[in-house]
Amino acid sequence: MGTYYQKEIECASREQIKEWQSERLVKTVKRAYENSQYYKNLMDDKGVSPDDIKSVDDLHKLPFLEKDDLRKSYPYGLMSAPIHDCIRIQSTSGTTGKRVIAFYTQHDLDLWDDCCARAITATGATKDDVIHISYGYGLFTGGLGLHGGSHKVGSLTLPVSSGNTERQLQFMCDLESTVLCCTPSYAAYLAETIAEKGIKDQIKLKAGIFGAEAWTEEMRKDIEEKLGIKAYDIYGLTELSGPGVSFECSEQNGMHINEDHFIAEIIDPETGEVLPDGQKGELVFSSITKEAFPLLRYRTRDICILNHEKCPCGRTMTRMAKPLGRSDDMLIIKGVNVFPSQIEAVLLQNGYPANYQIIVTRVNNSDVLDINVEMTPEKFSDTIGEISSAEKVLTNDLRAVLGIFARVHLVAHKSIVRSEGKAVRVIDKRNLYK
Ligand SMILES: [Zn+2]
Repeated sequence: MGTYYQKEIECASREQIKEWQSERLVKTVKRAYENSQYYKNLMDDKGVSPDDIKSVDDLHKLPFLEKDDLRKSYPYGLMSAPIHDCIRIQSTSGTTGKRVIAFYTQHDLDLWDDCCARAITATGATKDDVIHISYGYGLFTGGLGLHGGSHKVGSLTLPVSSGNTERQLQFMCDLESTVLCCTPSYAAYLAETIAEKGIKDQIKLKAGIFGAEAWTEEMRKDIEEKLGIKAYDIYGLTELSGPGVSFECSEQNGMHINEDHFIAEIIDPETGEVLPDGQKGELVFSSITKEAFPLLRYRTRDICILNHEKCPCGRTMTRMAKPLGRSDDMLIIKGVNVFPSQIEAVLLQNGYPANYQIIVTRVNNSDVLDINVEMTPEKFSDTIGEISSAEKVLTNDLRAVLGIFARVHLVAHKSIVRSEGKAVRVIDKRNLYK
């Protein structure tokens, strides 16, 4: 059995969860319709009125909300609470060039903090732990989200934020941090630096909560081994509040969705049709307790599968698989769908670090895929023959997984620029969308 922050909610009966969802959905639809002209127009255009939504079974009647709607309604169009009730603004990093902002009332922040507190408690952390938060603070939701959750748990919170690796490690050793919260790529970088400095014996970490970017099971194993911790996944979007929409329990087999606050659906990304249980499709979320910025049927573009089976941890909340990719950052190369996570898995299986860059170009109307992969000090070789045969092994393995040819280039250890936030894995030079 697991450790819970709000056991009566996290382990509630399915009937109780459905009751909460229905009641809260009805209320949220009404709030959005009455307070946001944008929502009113969207629903009027689809011929749906708040009276048509009587329970969670009517959810499919509502129109979808797309990222484009957030841009069109920028900045205040979707705000569903008076400005004097709103106390915070957060924003996405804008890595896709589409900055999204979200608003919060005090109530919204309280519930967001609860969601993060559930994630922290699920790792076994208590008031006796030192929570080391290396997510960025500021507009980005990672830092302040876990920070609020850590305060709710009552843990000793270290708001070190991102960057300055020397200082991170100094604090980690001196203050004996026990739970690390950051992006998985930064966790991998910290692990690498700790090994180089030979200070592993001074590190007291026992768990890590890593999210905000895609990572693979192989990368998880790598981080767990190097840091001697258990690594937990966490999922969220700024649009929906931030981290803590769902989180992993000790089973590490899917992330429990905080369904008292968010309703998940899986749809066919082409037709918008809701798919039956267990099918792979695009994840759609409705936030049903947000006052300032509720999103109804928001298309996340994450490709995912839901699992409604009971979890051995005791939680009854539905689990979502680690997203299998994003329908909008999926690469189509020579007509084949390629997810960067597939490439990463092959590299890690072959003993390479997750330090790589995917470069897609178009030569004579044909796509060319190049992958720069860093050698580890162990794998380093300055013999051209050895390098080229190691590259061939990777090329063959990648062809088996992706079904297309990739030119692999082994590059020197540490020659790919490290990121302290989201890693830049893909450079698509084809300008397909311009
Ligand atoms: Zn569980």
